[in-house]
Amino acid sequence: MKALVFTLFFSLGTQMMLGQGNYREQRNSMVDQQLAGRDIFQSKVLKAMRDVPRHVFVPEDYRPWAYSDQALPIGEGQTISQPYIVAYMTQTLRLQPEDRVLEIGTGSGYQAAVLSLLSRQVYTIEIVESLGLAARDRLKSLGYHNIAVHVGDGYNGWPSQAPFDAIMVTAGAEQLPQPLMDQLAEGGRMIIPIGPHGGVRQLTLVTKKKGKFKFEKLMPVRFVPFVRKTKTQGR
Ligand code: SAH
Repeated sequence: MKALVFTLFFSLGTQMMLGQGNYREQRNSMVDQQLAGRDIFQSKVLKAMRDVPRHVFVPEDYRPWAYSDQALPIGEGQTISQPYIVAYMTQTLRLQPEDRVLEIGTGSGYQAAVLSLLSRQVYTIEIVESLGLAARDRLKSLGYHNIAVHVGDGYNGWPSQAPFDAIMVTAGAEQLPQPLMDQLAEGGRMIIPIGPHGGVRQLTLVTKKKGKFKFEKLMPVRFVPFVRKTKTQGR
């Protein structure tokens, strides 16, 4: 009996020390329960969510909650979105393998990693320098090679790489930034939370067909605000 208890504790302990096995199981149940169990049906999206190690993108203190059904703090007053929202926004973009994608609000880099598995190239912009630099290092060390991270205000998009087949804004804006509309390719899709700061915003899908824009409100969401000034200025 003693031996059995010891073996059990020993193997659990090793698993926890190594982390991976335990995290992989947690990730699979996150996908089964929170995503496939709701309305995430695109198998490519579910696979990407099974692959990207979300716990590596959250601060160490929060790792035990990395796969729980919620947003988590990532420092600088910012958050990594709830897994369901990441998957839902990704699914809505209906990415094709050859697509070039722009993300505004790199944060931890988690969403960019998910997008990178479903597209040719991801361009992502983060306004908080410390977050942007950390995300760039993290993505590189994890081996995501088709992601370019830029530190700056994403309001103006990334003109030299435009147009984009898909644009995702992961901060809540009061209005649709015109430069982002201008950088959407023909047939392109953009997903962006729009609404008043401090209030509930509407996750909005913008599509461009034959030069015309169509707007669809998908669901109410809460997001950290889209800001306009570089926060590191004056430090
Ligand atoms: N996609 C991120 C979470 C983003 S939280 C992830 O997967 O972890 C929203 C991020 O948008 C924050 O890091 C915030 O600093 C950034 N942000 C806010 N306004 C911005 C702007 N104008 N340009 C670029 N990034 C911005």
